[in-house]
Order: sequence, then C-alpha cells, then structure tokens
Amino acid sequence: MSKWFMPLSSHPSDIHILQIPLNFSKQKPLIFTRIKMFSSSASLASVSPTHITPPTPQTPLVTLLETCKSMDHLKQIHSQTIKTGLFTNPTIQNKLIAFCSNHENGNMNYACQVFDKIPQPSVFVWNTMIKGYSRIDCHKNGVLMYLDMLNSDVRPDNYTFPFLLKGFSRDFALEFGRELHCHVVKFGFGSNVFVQNALISVYCLCGEIDVAQGIFDMSCKDDVVTWNAMFSGYNRMKRYEDTRKLFGQMERKGVLFTSVTCVLVLSACAKLKDLDVGKRVHRYVKECNIEPNLILENALIDMYAACGEMDVALEIFGMMRNKDVISWTSIVSGFLNRGQIDLAREYFDEMPIKDYVSWTAMIDGYLRVNRFKEALTLFREMQASNIRPDEFTMVSILSACAHLGALELGEWIKTYIDKYKVKNDTFVGNALIDMYCKCGSVEKARSLFKEMPRKDKFTWTAMIVGLANNGHGEEALNMFSEMLRASIKPDEVTYVGVLCACTHTGMVDEGRKYFAGMTTQHGIEPNVTHYGCMVDLLGRAGHLKEALEVINNMPVKPNSIVWGALLGACRVHRDAEMAEMAAKQILELDPDNGAVYVLLCNIYAACNKLDKLREVRQLMLDRGIKKTPGCSLIEMNGVVHEFVAGDQSHPETKEIYLKLEKMSRDLKFAGYSPDTSEVFLDVGEEDKESAVYQHSEKLAMAFGLINSETGTTIRIVKNLRMCVDCHRVAKLVSKVYHREVVVRDKTRFHHFRDGSCSCKDYW
Ligand code: ZN
Ligand code: ZN
Repeated sequence: MSKWFMPLSSHPSDIHILQIPLNFSKQKPLIFTRIKMFSSSASLASVSPTHITPPTPQTPLVTLLETCKSMDHLKQIHSQTIKTGLFTNPTIQNKLIAFCSNHENGNMNYACQVFDKIPQPSVFVWNTMIKGYSRIDCHKNGVLMYLDMLNSDVRPDNYTFPFLLKGFSRDFALEFGRELHCHVVKFGFGSNVFVQNALISVYCLCGEIDVAQGIFDMSCKDDVVTWNAMFSGYNRMKRYEDTRKLFGQMERKGVLFTSVTCVLVLSACAKLKDLDVGKRVHRYVKECNIEPNLILENALIDMYAACGEMDVALEIFGMMRNKDVISWTSIVSGFLNRGQIDLAREYFDEMPIKDYVSWTAMIDGYLRVNRFKEALTLFREMQASNIRPDEFTMVSILSACAHLGALELGEWIKTYIDKYKVKNDTFVGNALIDMYCKCGSVEKARSLFKEMPRKDKFTWTAMIVGLANNGHGEEALNMFSEMLRASIKPDEVTYVGVLCACTHTGMVDEGRKYFAGMTTQHGIEPNVTHYGCMVDLLGRAGHLKEALEVINNMPVKPNSIVWGALLGACRVHRDAEMAEMAAKQILELDPDNGAVYVLLCNIYAACNKLDKLREVRQLMLDRGIKKTPGCSLIEMNGVVHEFVAGDQSHPETKEIYLKLEKMSRDLKFAGYSPDTSEVFLDVGEEDKESAVYQHSEKLAMAFGLINSETGTTIRIVKNLRMCVDCHRVAKLVSKVYHREVVVRDKTRFHHFRDGSCSCKDYW
C-alpha cells in the first residue's frame, strides 16, 4: 500500500472531516465579516426579494455578458439584471460571477458582492469563486470558500479540487495539502486525473516527492500533465536523475509530449550534462512539430551550452526571433564553463539587457580563473548600472576581496548587505568571516562569528582556519574544542585548520595527537594536504628525519606540496643535503616549478655553497625557468594597487621612491642593515642591496605610508613568501612609524606591531 493513503486510514469519521474541517475555524469569522461587509456596503443594498419579477427572455443580456470586456460594463449589465429582475436566473448569475472571478479585468470583491446575493449558489458558482481566488493567489479565501460550501451542504465535484489546489504556495501546500487530500479521497475523486495532477503538484511543492510519486504510480499515466507535474517536482528537488529515468518511461509508454515536457527534461539534461537525452528531446521537438517558443529555445540553448556544445547553442541562438536575457546568459555561461572567459565577455558586453543573474555569472567567471581585479571592476560597473546584487553576487565579491586582501571593499559590502537587507544568512556570514580573516582582520571576524545566530560546519571551519593562518594557534584549537562541544562534526578542511594551528605555533605533540584523532575520532582519512601539514609541522620544529619518515610512509603518493613543506623546513634548518633530495622530487613531479629553484638557491646561499648555487642558476637558464616575479597588492580607498619588484609603472613612482629613501635613512637610524642572504644573483653586494631594496612589498609599504593617515593599519598581500629582509623592514616600520603592518604572504599572515611579528620570525 502506498504511503499517501495513510492520512485517510488514520483519520476519524466523516463528520469530523465535513463539519469541523481543516482546523480553520479560528480565522473564519474574520473573512466572513469581510464578505458581509462587502454585501452591505454596495449598491446591492437596494436589491430585495420583493423587487424580483418573474424571468423574462434573457438572451440579449447573456450575449452582452459574454462580450463584456470591463468591470464598468459589467456593473451596468448587473444593474440591468437587477432592474429587470433577471438576476435570479442561474445562467445570468453564473456569467456575472464568472466574469468577475476569471476575466483578466475581473474583480473578486465585486464577485463577493454578487455571490452574497445568491440565495443557494450551485456547485458551479462555488467552484467559480474558488477558481477566482486561485487566480489572484488568494488561497486562504479559496479554502474558506470551500469550507463554506461544505457547510452549505454543497458537495464538491471534480472541478472543485483542481481549482482549489491550483497555484498553492509552498506554505499553503504544507498547511492544507494533506487534509485536502483526505477530502479528495472521502468524496471519491481520488482517481480523477485532474485531481491527481493537482495533488501531485501540491506534494511536489511540499517536497514530499515520494507521496507525489505514490499518486503518480496509481494514476493512469495517459495525461501528459501528470508526467509534467512529476518532472517539475523532481527538478525542484534537484533529482534530475529521476526526471531522466521517468522520461525514459514516458517515451516507452508513448505519451505525447508538450513543450512543457521538453523544457523540464532539457533542464534536467543541462544539469546532468546529458547530451544524448538532450539531443533526443531536440529531435522530438523537430519531429513532432512542437511550436518553438522562447522558453523552449532557451532550454535548448541552456542544455547545449551546459554540455559544452557551443556551436549548436550558437546556431539556435542565432536563429531565434526574440532573445531575452536568459538566452544571452546561457550563451555567456556556456563559454564561461569552457573557460573561454574573454569570449564570454564579448557576448556579455553585447547583451542589450543584463539582470543580476547575468552580472553574477560573469563576475563568478572571473573568480573561477583567478582574475579577481576584473571581477571587482565588473562589480563596480554593475553598481553603476543600478542592478541590485543578490546574496550570490555578494559571496562572489567577498571571495574576490578575500583573495586580494581588499578589506575596505569587503567592509563596504558588509554595510551594503546591512543597509539593503540582502538575505544575510549563514552562507553570506561565512563568506564575510572568510573575507575578514583573509584580510587579516581577525577582530572583525571574531565579532561577526559571535553575532551569527546560526553557525554551521563552514562557519566554524572558516574561523578555525582564519585564526590559525593569522597566528592565533591556541585560540584556533580552543575554537575547535568548542565546535566539538557544540556537536558540529568537523570535516577535512577543519582539520587542515587544526594542523596549521599546531604548525604555526610549533605545537608538535598536539599536532601528532590531532592527526591521529582525525581517523580514530571522526573517521576522516587524512589526505595529501593533511600529510603536507604534518611534514610542515615536524620539519619546522626541526624533526626533519621524522618528517621524511611521514612522507615515506604515506599511503598516497606525495605531491609537490608535501615535498615543498620539507624543502621549506630544510631552508629554516639549513639542511642542504635533504633540500637537494626534496627539490629533486618536486622537479620530477613539476619540472617548471620556478619557486623550487629559487628556494634551493636560497638554501645554498644561506649555507654558503656558492658552487652549487651557480649550478642551479645555470640549470634555470638552460631550462628557461623564470623566477615568478614577486608581486604585492595594497588596497587604498577601494582601489587595489599592484606592485612588482623594481616597479616604475605606478603614477606615484617618484614619491614612492623618495619615501623609500627616507624610510631607509629612518630605519638605518633605528639599527637596520640590509640582509641580502636570500639574494642569490651573481652580483656585487651593492646590487644585491638595491635588489632587496626594491622588493614589491617595500614599494607597497612606502605607498601605504604616503597615502594613509597616521595610525592606519597597512595591509599587503604578497604572492610569494616574504624574504628575510622585507620581514625585518616591516618590523622596523611598525616600530619607527607606529603603524601596524599586516602582510599575507603565500602561506601565512605576518602581523607586525611595535617591532615584532606575530609569526615570531618562524615562517
Ligand atoms: Zn623582500
Ligand atoms: Zn612574520
């Protein structure tokens, strides 16, 4: 027996259903007052039974009613019927009510007035009223009408339920769906196909797709609407696989499709990237001469674009008589999915109208290929064209801010979200926390975290990872214990944060404990990233041999990140021999990894192995390996400025270099001498000095000092690891100029304050 029968069998008697239906009695008087009010306030007050004369020929009035176009006209006809006494004629009554309820220019208040004057409305009239309330999405009044009808001892017929249930909102479906289903069964309409279709839609709305499926299974399945209702239900629940399966059944049964069927199945195919079924639907469209319409053509384009068949998508797109914003957006998204961002941009720029979906798609496209600055520029254009972003746009932009370290813009987004009441749920909250952490503003992240009413796994994880990367290792670990106490299950990313917290604070024993606990307590198998963390933890603490053992005993193949962690540790502890071995491993996996050559050079330079250093230099030249240029970003007044080493392209170059000279003098006075140990070029000491002198983060620091007020924190994002000399300079800048300097380098944060760094010179 299928599940959907359950409410009936467990339901009390007829009387209960028919006389005290739907627990709705509390609200009833309210509406009745309303209906009463209408009837007493209107022109109908003059109508009383004594005025009614016996029926006379009515044909002209009926014809008039049938051609009536407006309420004004209808009101005239209505008063005619009253004057002539024809109002009592059921045909006239039906037509009057039908116009007010169903006509696009109708008016339900007026329908009520007319209705109230009908002494014993027929089921047709009741149905018409119910249908009218559905049409104007006034389902509550529809349900009340229905109850009133039962109280007037009028039995529903097979039109009543489809009218009543049509267009239910989700809330209504949840509130009344099941009970109305009982009524359907009680009154014996359970096998009426229209009623079944309506019920399937209602259960799909409630998300009770299995109950809908139960009704579907018992239906005769001859009506295409039944199938469409199921497809739509599955799509709504993102069960695209089921839509595809059901479509197979429909094909076998030979039910004729409508364009609605095609649209629903195509949209499932787009999600599943199922080109075969998609093409089959397209063939049916052609063979069955289904009239192409905008929605169908859009669904076809979307399917082909999602499956990467841009040629076909463009062909359909080109032949469309009318294109709307959806057609254009599908083409843009199609190119974005194939990574052809510039081509996508061309189509995007050509769009006659853009909505927030198209803007967000394009912005997101830039994010996916790490072109963050362009994402932000586009966001500004979106602002300028007065399109309101939604929460998805916000999250995309926040993630761009996080990457660029653009705190000012991130803050502005936060204000915008508060001001315009953009749906500020956990999803947006998590993105904000991530942004604050990645911009080095832990305090803001912390207070937002405290304020958030609902915290999920991602909220906790964002906070733990953020604290760890900003050097608050112990706090991150406390946060992790708190997360466990709140019964939130950690995932592998949470554990990356936990292990990082141990690494950055040098807590080796704790790290070992957590690493073991991952599997034993939470059943999470460590992946290559976790092993990388362990190698980093052990290596930095000087346990190089144990770190190597971890690598050798890994159940998965170590990647260049794991070996990179060992290589980094070799630099800190100046172990040239193991460094060579690690570098060799990385270069086997990733021969063009410029950073490895550089690191190896640094190590040889630090160990004074100049012959080896020259060898590696030569190897780099022979293999055409270029050093990744160091690049620093700094945001000033909402604009992100970019500096590379020795940069002369910035409009304020002159001022910046003057400031650098001044800085150099001030800092030397405070005891600074350049540290060129990490410069490995075969050049004289003086050139080495000028090379470190022009490092990108120093240029950004000088720029920041010039352009921000005293006391403001300077925030810089660096693409590579910070060198020893820049680290020393930043410490002195924080002391000499009383500035807080925050630098996010490739692996971690450095918060410089009063001459020292949060990393405790351990990075
Ligand atoms: Zn440097
Ligand atoms: Zn530091």
